[in-house]
Amino acid sequence: MNSDSQSNRKIIHIDADCFYAAVEIRDNPSLRGKPIAVGGSATRRGVVATASYEARKFGVRSAMASATAVKRCPGLILIPGRMSVYREASRQMHEIFSDYTDLIEPLSLDEAFLDVSACTRCRGSATLIAEEIRRRIADDIGITVSAGIAPNKFIAKVASDWNKPDGQYVVTPLQVDDFLESLPVKRIWGVGKVTAERLERQGIKTCGDVRRYDIYQFVQLFGQFGEHIHRLAHGIDNRPVVAEWRRKSVSVENTYDADLPDLDSCTRQLPALIESLKLRLQRLDDDYRIQNCFLKMKFFDFNQTTVERQQTEPNYADYATLCEEAWQRGKKPVRLLGIGARLIDLTDASGQMDLFED
Ligand SMILES: [Mg+2]
Repeated sequence: MNSDSQSNRKIIHIDADCFYAAVEIRDNPSLRGKPIAVGGSATRRGVVATASYEARKFGVRSAMASATAVKRCPGLILIPGRMSVYREASRQMHEIFSDYTDLIEPLSLDEAFLDVSACTRCRGSATLIAEEIRRRIADDIGITVSAGIAPNKFIAKVASDWNKPDGQYVVTPLQVDDFLESLPVKRIWGVGKVTAERLERQGIKTCGDVRRYDIYQFVQLFGQFGEHIHRLAHGIDNRPVVAEWRRKSVSVENTYDADLPDLDSCTRQLPALIESLKLRLQRLDDDYRIQNCFLKMKFFDFNQTTVERQQTEPNYADYATLCEEAWQRGKKPVRLLGIGARLIDLTDASGQMDLFED
């Protein structure tokens, strides 16, 4: 069950509806009710960033080639994006948010988490706060947003989709279990197509199905990542809302007093570097996974090279291989060695598709 600390939290996930398209319609009301898409030209390999609901009825989707979109919807009005206008609308949204909390974590221009646990406005009701924020955004900025209100980020994010557009959905701590029972497991952050298929082969389609396994069985079946899935399927998500930069990599490096003359002397430095890298990795929160390991080598003449390979656990053998690869590129004395790991951030819910989300 949920721990006290998290069931007491009040998290709102705000997500604007067809954000770019909505801003365009606001600024040119004659577009209202018409199928429009913001994106690149159909004749120049453009891609749709956002489509209005009218365009979606024709099957026009974000990230679709504009040429395909125009085929599906011959009357489609394609509009080039105006990022500076969208950025300004986003800034105005954040200004409204900041009347309720400082704990605002943007996921993209039109999406953010708000932790309103300590907010006393609207009698401290997160439901009323979300209603007020949505009304103010509609009145002051001229676009609509949807909201999810829940005890944690995972559920709030899912819930904001439930009554979209221009709606909100509340999941109270007592409703969490019911909400999750039938929720498709692919709604869990980080569960992509491949993982979803693996789960389905075990007969697992919903969070409810996950909950019928104990954590040990589940980790045995699906490894470390299984723990993440199991935890979220139980509605346990203690990730704080942080208005802070998230890292993409961790690395350590050392410049040597005397140049390292050969490959052997470079490889001998690796254990110490790996040890300090591991210490740095231990300090990261649980929401990071390692994707790649890399090694940087700077030669005495300041030329440098970086080599990289896919690896989820930093180890000596892999760094030794990378070290040799880097050495072969220069074969000259080395003044600096660095090693590191590139990270996947599990809190980055939409990842690279962010631009296309609405
Ligand atoms: Mg959106």
